[in-house]
Amino acid sequence: MGYAYDDQNIFAKILRGEIPNKTIAETEHTLAFADIYPQAPVHILVIPKGAYVCFDHFAAEASDAEIVDFHRVAARICADLNLAPGGDGDGYRTLSNAGAHAVQDVPHYHMHILGGRPLGPMLTRREGA
Ligand code: AMP
Repeated sequence: MGYAYDDQNIFAKILRGEIPNKTIAETEHTLAFADIYPQAPVHILVIPKGAYVCFDHFAAEASDAEIVDFHRVAARICADLNLAPGGDGDGYRTLSNAGAHAVQDVPHYHMHILGGRPLGPMLTRREGA
């Protein structure tokens, strides 16, 4: 039980500077960069610099400083890009995939920030939910 972190995943390589990224924001604990296959006019990925596989791993094991910094960076991006509804923006969606059912492709925790157009319903509904 527990998480084993694969340090050959693509975001680990980005963090080590082995492959390029379009950086949006960077702090001691957090990096935000443009998604390479954007699914909306704004599509940014926010990742912790620490070795966490997915949301629950990060939320359970990261330090308070890492967790606060991660969310403050995400909030600043929403404000700076004028997405935040509290600042007259038209809104945005954050999402994070974990594991097989959510089709997580990259096993380094990341939060997607999507916006810049109406994003439609959260999920496609199926019979029986
Ligand atoms: P997920 O399916 O939630 O794991 O999402 C992984 C995301 O990473 C996808 O939206 C990809 O487009 C994105 N992605 C994969 N490789 C790169 C890369 N080198 N730079 C930026 N984004 C990437």
